[in-house]
Amino acid sequence: MIDNQKDDKIDKKEDRLIRAITTDRQIRAIAATTTGVVEKSRQLHNTSPLATSALGRALTGALMIASLLKSGKEVSLTITGDGPLDKIVAEADLYGKVRGYVKNPDANLPLNDSGKIAVGKGIGQGKLIVRKDLGLKEPYQGQVPLISGEIGEDITYYFTKSEQTPSSVGVGVLVSPEMTVAAAGGFLIQLFPEAEEKAITTLEKNINRISSVTEMISEGMEPEAILNQILEGLDFKVLESKEVQYDCRCSRERVLSLIRGLDPEDIKKTLAEQGKVEIGCQFCNQTYLFTDADIAELDLEGNS
Ligand SMILES: [Zn+2]
Repeated sequence: MIDNQKDDKIDKKEDRLIRAITTDRQIRAIAATTTGVVEKSRQLHNTSPLATSALGRALTGALMIASLLKSGKEVSLTITGDGPLDKIVAEADLYGKVRGYVKNPDANLPLNDSGKIAVGKGIGQGKLIVRKDLGLKEPYQGQVPLISGEIGEDITYYFTKSEQTPSSVGVGVLVSPEMTVAAAGGFLIQLFPEAEEKAITTLEKNINRISSVTEMISEGMEPEAILNQILEGLDFKVLESKEVQYDCRCSRERVLSLIRGLDPEDIKKTLAEQGKVEIGCQFCNQTYLFTDADIAELDLEGNS
């Protein structure tokens, strides 16, 4: 019975991420399918096709960057620009959980000159901040200006510039005519310092030849098949394969600890005016409600 259940799950094509390395240890590669993750974020945030695409690319990028963590907790990507989307945040952990939001989920634009969703224009000029909580006292933080706002190129530039690691990143989201997510996913390829010219040439040839990541995923390709194409002619082994999910870690307890950090006078004022304190989670739109009695239990007076 348990085996049958497992088969059912595979039939439904759960989103997955795999991490691989070439057997000569010159190249590491990640591929992920995130169609379900991005569709969930679309439903939660009720995003326009432009916002669905931009947030989906960021969520996919965050998941792949987080899977490179050796230890530590999570990676967050913050993209801010002067385009109509304004700001995108995506947070992912080592265990394949991701969440995110876009400041203006309604923002939309006509398709660009190549007939594609104009993500670059939607984000505009700005910056990408990558924050890694490595479990140390201070999180690591790197920042680069946006190259195109297309997100894949911007993450590639971040790795090259900020981490001095030559990389190639592709992320994509295909929105169906019904505005739902038809396919989403990505790949991240990195060269180790030992990488030789021959392997690099093979890799470049492969990357130029492959179709877009969304095309591969809408054809039903799994992460292994994607890497088979990108790393064709190179021996590699898969080090890790895991399910990835949209998952918000917010809870009543976490929100309560947030309230503890606020000014007690402000909370008292809100309670007096509205009879309650309402705090919403930006990542999943869940609302947490606290009454007079809930707040009294916190004993905020004692801290002021
Ligand atoms: Zn939440």
